[in-house]
Amino acid sequence: MSRVNQKTKICVMCGDEKVEGIIIQSGFICDKCEYEIIHTEVGDEKYPFFIQRMKKLWLKNA
Ligand SMILES: [Zn+2]
Repeated sequence: MSRVNQKTKICVMCGDEKVEGIIIQSGFICDKCEYEIIHTEVGDEKYPFFIQRMKKLWLKNA
C-alpha cells in the first residue's frame, strides 16, 4: 500500500509526531491516545490526566 505524503501533527497527549489521529478543536490526538482515552475506565489513574488535557483543548477555544 502506498500512502500520499501526509503532514505529521504533534499529539497533545503524548507529544509524538503522528499522521493518524483526530482533531478536537485545535488540538490533535493521535490514534494511539484516542484508543487509550476510549479504553480508560473512569476509575483509572490515567483518567484525570486525560480529562485535564481535554479540558485545556476545550478552554483554548471557549
Ligand atoms: Zn498521542
